[in-house]
Amino acid sequence: MPARIDIDLSAVARNARALADRARTRLIPMVKADAYGMGVRAVVQALEKVDPWGFGVATVSEGEELRALGVELPVITFTPLLESELAAASAARLTPALGSAATIRAWQSLGGPWHLAIDTGMARAGASWRDVASLREVVLASPPEGAFTHFHSAELDDGSMQEQDRRFEDALTALGLAAVFTHTDNSAAVLRRGRSSRDAVRPGIFLYGGATVPGAAIEPDPVAHLRAPIVDLRACEAGDTISYGATFKATHRMRIATLACGYADGYPRNVGQQGRPGATVVLRGRRVPIVGRVTMDMIMIDVTGVECAAGDTVTLIGGEGGELVTVAEVGASAGITPYEVLVGMNSRSPRVPHED
Ligand SMILES: *Cc1c(COP(=O)(O)O)cnc(C)c1O
Repeated sequence: MPARIDIDLSAVARNARALADRARTRLIPMVKADAYGMGVRAVVQALEKVDPWGFGVATVSEGEELRALGVELPVITFTPLLESELAAASAARLTPALGSAATIRAWQSLGGPWHLAIDTGMARAGASWRDVASLREVVLASPPEGAFTHFHSAELDDGSMQEQDRRFEDALTALGLAAVFTHTDNSAAVLRRGRSSRDAVRPGIFLYGGATVPGAAIEPDPVAHLRAPIVDLRACEAGDTISYGATFKATHRMRIATLACGYADGYPRNVGQQGRPGATVVLRGRRVPIVGRVTMDMIMIDVTGVECAAGDTVTLIGGEGGELVTVAEVGASAGITPYEVLVGMNSRSPRVPHED
């Protein structure tokens, strides 16, 4: 049995329901990047049971994939499309997020719903809130089904979300779109302000077990559980070094186990480096530390004094018994975000979806 990632679909559905209850609006779950590395096919099936308004993706090909899976709900593409992509988007009945006069006009000539992207401070995509009035004529020629903006720091209590809200409202007024369907909130925004004043919210990371607002009123249930077997065991004497670069040196006689899992299996390589906290895994219900560098295919752990044998399963990310290794914790050890930990799980190791 090689390294594998158990994907808990019931947890995805529970996380979605918890956010919808908190926001008290419809959901547009973001399932871009293969559902944040969790596997879009299984995730979408689980999320369809919570009655979302539609789904959000980045690209046309991600949208086409949802249609191939049989999704009939609206699918919004959030990365700006080139005019050359509009025909394919239309053929797949996708709903593009548009923000330039040229692409809006080109889409209007094809027909089909679209959402107006308004940039209120992210400077990434959409029409700038400053000169949105210049789009008034083209927008009203065939108005959008919805309008939205995206927050740059929703996880912070720095007033920026309120400022972006104001800019968004001003832009809608300038366009004469005061009554249009709107959506602004990502996971962190829902966690921080609860009830949404919009028609839908666009959560991503929370659905997949990533917590981005410490101490929030609701916590996500873990979704991904990366597990791998012990495949080798050895004794190391004081002075022996472990793994590439010989960065770890045994200070006493130690028992070292090798896991059949490495950074090619979705575990981040840089845990514990540059003075960051070391990473631990769960073996037989207890935490044991990783020693030495993570390699592509194998990881060594210190099992001195822990009864174990080749074939035992170790949990590197996720829960086992009462212990939980969160994606946030692994990310902090590796110097990366929970988003990167999750997306990195789209890897060599098979993702095994199951309900409960
Ligand atoms: C990815 C994305 C989201 C989801 O953000 P999370 O922080 O994962 O909840 C929402 N809106 C847009 C436009 C996005 O690109």
